[in-house]
Amino acid sequence: MSRFFSDRHKSLVPYTPGEQPTGRQYIKLNTNESPFPPSPRAVAYAAEAAKRLELYPDPTCGELHAAFAKQCGVEPDEVLMTNGSDEILCFAFNAFCDDRHPAAFADVTYGFYSVFAQLLHIPYTLIPLREDFTIEPEDYVALGKTIFLANPNAPTGIALPLDAVERIVRGNPNNVVVVDEAYVDFGGESAVPLIHKYENLLVTQTFSKSRSLAGGRLGCGIGCKALIADLNTIKYSTNPYNINRMTMAAGLGALEDDAYMRDNCKEIIETRGATMQALRKLGFTVIDSSANFVFAKADWIGGNDLYLQLKERGVLIRHFETPRLKDYNRITIGTRDQMRALILAINDIREALL
Ligand code: PMP
Repeated sequence: MSRFFSDRHKSLVPYTPGEQPTGRQYIKLNTNESPFPPSPRAVAYAAEAAKRLELYPDPTCGELHAAFAKQCGVEPDEVLMTNGSDEILCFAFNAFCDDRHPAAFADVTYGFYSVFAQLLHIPYTLIPLREDFTIEPEDYVALGKTIFLANPNAPTGIALPLDAVERIVRGNPNNVVVVDEAYVDFGGESAVPLIHKYENLLVTQTFSKSRSLAGGRLGCGIGCKALIADLNTIKYSTNPYNINRMTMAAGLGALEDDAYMRDNCKEIIETRGATMQALRKLGFTVIDSSANFVFAKADWIGGNDLYLQLKERGVLIRHFETPRLKDYNRITIGTRDQMRALILAINDIREALL
């Protein structure tokens, strides 16, 4: 830390992203990326857009907003595209939280929420999940706080049914409820249709997972016009050109190639089922997942041990050291071949131990 670092941030503990190795080639199952390349149309559009990089991108993101809104069944001024969904989440903390509107989220959820709250000096409350990692919706009713709800949740993969989400949104009419749907395309029920019914609902989504654009950084918020206007105020006070030309073009190509996305999701869902079954056969407890990852623990090996031993064998998975999670690992669903290699590696580790 330099002697110039602001006192405001001296105790800030930043978010730790999953490893992005540059040397050895790993089977990379640690950051919930898609194992499939982006749609060829997304790549072609991005390549074309690269020819005009001397110009700033369209700050209104007009064409992409129109295309995305159409696909969601909402109006263009009910959406805002951002630099990954991390950015829309940061905008939401900025726009809808303060001392009078503290934040609330689960004790086990996406780790960035508490970092945004700390960065922006927003008080926050952690609401414990039940023993089985599910959410008790009644814990969130009439909270008087801005609620952040990942649905499906991370790192558990557990989805909350839409009627429970609606109960929470309806139960907090004077506070914004942000539903983070980063993984919704793998089996969750989207709350987007509810945005016309509830002015306090903001849904966030991402192109990083189901649309294979994690490296492009494209996310979005969907909510009533007034909420989106507030988020735009934050955007235009932070980084009006938040989405670069190539990403904007890639996003448009990905939206036009919806069938590609649907096919990939179907493949991931099938592979997830086979992986869960194989892991259970190897003595794992696997939580039923609605996301592109599974959360699993075994009684014959500790979470960190498994992570380290798999890494040695060239397979990267994600381990969290927090007390409630340390026995588990989060494993991204890759291709069928990648998952076969994972299961073989786990089998080897197990045979060497037993
Ligand atoms: N929400 C959740 C629950 C996530 O797991 C992630 C990915 N790490 C994000 C949001 C952010 O993803 P991105 O910024 O790539 O859209």
